[in-house]
Amino acid sequence: MDDKILLIKNLIEKKGYKFTNQKKMILEELFKVNTHLNSKQIYDKVKDKKIGLATVYRTLNLFSEIGIVKEINVDGVSYYELKMYGKKPLHIHFQCVKCNSVIDIDDNNLNLQYLKIGREIEDKNNVDIYDIDIMLVGVCDKCKKPTVKNQ
Ligand SMILES: [Zn+2]
Ligand SMILES: [Zn+2]
Repeated sequence: MDDKILLIKNLIEKKGYKFTNQKKMILEELFKVNTHLNSKQIYDKVKDKKIGLATVYRTLNLFSEIGIVKEINVDGVSYYELKMYGKKPLHIHFQCVKCNSVIDIDDNNLNLQYLKIGREIEDKNNVDIYDIDIMLVGVCDKCKKPTVKNQ
């Protein structure tokens, strides 16, 4: 078994849950894609393996509760991505108000500043920060382009 999957397996079992084959397959899909997926999109990837939509919902809820995945809400739909075990553990999100797409802003230099801001806030306020969640809202590159008018 993959090292990261093994780590998560231990975490799930430590919380008192069984590490089922379904959980493993859903995890593997999350690792493969490395972006945000909603329950339906994940279900589409695993339905051939006889995993029902209800199981996908339940599993993602559990993953979110234990802190394996981050849940991002866009217009009432939950999207999930791996938290600390993913390839991009720390990044800013950008949401387009026109097409509702969510983009990962994943830039090393920006992420470093992002960490610095967190540290400064910790120092000044005497708090411990576990996670930073920034969602920028605006209009994406695609939607910014002017639509051609028929005249
Ligand atoms: Zn857009
Ligand atoms: Zn993301």
